[in-house]
Amino acid sequence: MANSNNNAAKPLILIVEDEVPLVTMLKYNLEQEGFRTAAAGDGEVALVMADEETPSLMLLDWMLPRMSGLEVCRQLRRGPRTRSIPIIMLTARGEEDDRVRGLNSGADDYIAKPFSIVELIARVRAVLRRTTPSHADETLQFGDISMDLAAHRVRRSERDIHLGPTEYRLLLHFMQHPGRVFSREQLLDTVWGRDVYVEPRTVDVHIRRLRKALNETEDDDLIRTVRSAGYALDAKSA
Ligand code: CA
Repeated sequence: MANSNNNAAKPLILIVEDEVPLVTMLKYNLEQEGFRTAAAGDGEVALVMADEETPSLMLLDWMLPRMSGLEVCRQLRRGPRTRSIPIIMLTARGEEDDRVRGLNSGADDYIAKPFSIVELIARVRAVLRRTTPSHADETLQFGDISMDLAAHRVRRSERDIHLGPTEYRLLLHFMQHPGRVFSREQLLDTVWGRDVYVEPRTVDVHIRRLRKALNETEDDDLIRTVRSAGYALDAKSA
């Protein structure tokens, strides 16, 4: 069985492309290079997946059924949870003004089909290098909890909080999506990794540990249990 820690640490690339053989080829090669992949065949599915999974990067085809890649790109840039996802546009169009339109709509880079897979992977790495340092410098804040992502340090008020790796990733996921309710299955997928089989109850165990580390009393609990739905990081629940 794959090691869940390594797995969750791999960047997730969301491939948005309606040509199945191209998706297969991209998935295969990106996974060989150590990325995790997910795929969407049209723009609407892509928008939902981008919002739910917050991928490290998206490969976005221009010519998609129903909604163009350009429109997907614009909508991603308007979404609070998706606006900073790096995007590489893929297209058969090589004209300079299309390239400009793509970049104006918020894409980070542009690659014309047909492309060499070696070049595509180099571009993916370059865009990730360019966009990841700003993430690493980030400090996330929610209520009196702060997470210094570069120093890997968690504080609550003035108190240092020591978390195990799983609790750290759980808290990070909550801090990146404050107020949102996640089911146990969603947490397993994002925090443990999709291809790792773990009992949903395991989530409860780690939530308990996270609460124990974060909270001095029950009154200051910021993790809301939503009966039969899951968990959320939230303002004080009544
Ligand atoms: Ca296409």
